[in-house]
Amino acid sequence: MSQLVIKDLWVSADSNMILKGVNLTISSEDTVALMGPNGSGKSTLAYTIMGHPDYKVEKGSILFDGEDILNMSVDERSRKGLFLAMQSPYEISGVTNRDFIKQASDKRIKENGKPLSIYKFAVKLDKAISDLKMDKDLADRYVNEGFSGGEKKKNEILQLKMLEPKFAILDEIDSGLDVDAVKIVSDNVNNLKKENNIGLILISHYHRLYEYIKPTHAVVLINGQLVKEGGSELIDEIDKYGFEPIKREAGIEDEVTLLEECAFKVTSK
Ligand code: ADP
Ligand code: MG
Repeated sequence: MSQLVIKDLWVSADSNMILKGVNLTISSEDTVALMGPNGSGKSTLAYTIMGHPDYKVEKGSILFDGEDILNMSVDERSRKGLFLAMQSPYEISGVTNRDFIKQASDKRIKENGKPLSIYKFAVKLDKAISDLKMDKDLADRYVNEGFSGGEKKKNEILQLKMLEPKFAILDEIDSGLDVDAVKIVSDNVNNLKKENNIGLILISHYHRLYEYIKPTHAVVLINGQLVKEGGSELIDEIDKYGFEPIKREAGIEDEVTLLEECAFKVTSK
């Protein structure tokens, strides 16, 4: 069993403090729904776990299987078994998807101490592409170049399937996917969970994804702080009532709410 432990994490970008004391422990048995309004710091948390250079850890620690990962490079973290399916995947011109995934796979997936043979790799890639109902040509095109929004998202899951991490963060994997594609991606993620027992952090604004990939826990991030934790009932609650009641409960009032309240008091006088 793998474990990711985040302790009192403070993170800034461009001299703005974005995460303000996040504490979270997740094991590979868990599927955590990371929820929160736009701009609350969800992607920042995902990027910080992976080691994106734009995000500066001001305080706190992240331990993966007991090891402090904050001084590790992105590549080292990935080889340790961490994976991020990005909200907005990058395009890499001049590198084919096949070569890109083969390079990454060779460092991570070993059979008797050796990378997969070209044949075995090709068979595995073909199967993963067909499981995801992706166009076969996408393997030999440049990474994400000219891919549709949905193809880019599926391509992230293709990498997830090929690299077999211990822990994966899926950042808005369902945005830009049509209804059928959300189902296909979810089925693939559920199979991975069943086969490899990978720990999952799901970031999504849509209830539909959480119906297909059932979270064991839900946490709510607002203004860089985790303000509420719960089970799947919390997801239903947010779907019905939005984040406002949670903000109020946590004593967080944003400017819009304050203005609305002032307007209400003025007009109701
Ligand atoms: P979420 O994913 O929850 O919508 P983000 O983590 O993307 O939120 O962003 C949280 C806040 O941090 C936002 O106000 C955003 O503008 C800011 N932010 C994110 N990345 C950067 C960056 N690289 N430089 C400066 N500010 C950033
Ligand atoms: Mg985001």
